[in-house]
Amino acid sequence: MTAPRPRPRTGSYAAVMSSDEAADGAPAAVQSVVRAHVDDLLDRAAAAGHRLEPRPVVEVLPGRGHSSSRPATSREAAAVLVGRDLLDAPPAVQRWGLAHEVAHLLPSPATARGHLGPWLGTVAAVATLVAAAAAVASAVALATAPGVAPMPPWLPLVSVAGVVVLWLVLQRMRRQLETAVDVATAAVFGLVLPPEGVQWLTTAEGTVSRRLPVLLRTHPRPAARRRTGLDTLG
Ligand SMILES: [Zn+2]
Repeated sequence: MTAPRPRPRTGSYAAVMSSDEAADGAPAAVQSVVRAHVDDLLDRAAAAGHRLEPRPVVEVLPGRGHSSSRPATSREAAAVLVGRDLLDAPPAVQRWGLAHEVAHLLPSPATARGHLGPWLGTVAAVATLVAAAAAVASAVALATAPGVAPMPPWLPLVSVAGVVVLWLVLQRMRRQLETAVDVATAAVFGLVLPPEGVQWLTTAEGTVSRRLPVLLRTHPRPAARRRTGLDTLG
């Protein structure tokens, strides 16, 4: 017989994580509470038709690691990794953040890693080929006949342009994935990034990241993420 799982302390789902507990020598208690929250989310996802088996591992990261999730591989189980960023967040942001990390793992077409427009994959593949071909051609030209067969001036430009395009496409793919996960977080768990979360995420991004144009970001802007959730709930 297995021991009953610890449940969240208040209500059907409430964030009671505390970085103070984690820092003050009670990591097992924090781990247990976080595990209970993840189990609660997985139960709710299963009830909504998104069963995740085997259940992911839950780890509270030491130090100042950032929260994330790790999909299952042939060698490792899926994992929800909870860092100090989430432990230090306001409770409503903790609830949303943990649900977001779980939503990354749901076996849903909307959040599958390959959920991307077909043209994006084509552009990325072509950009990779162009960059690789240009880089190889540059290296061969330099190694075999420097000065005799001067490298065309456009060759390094094409190489750099190919890498830049590939990088921009990958950033866009990441933003699309995050948006799909935000949609799933709202659709499956009914959770939207709360207003204080918009401010909290903006502050947490730091002065450089928050000023980056959307084109260069890995995640949509916090306000846009809240709008995505609200639009999903209608
Ligand atoms: Zn995410």
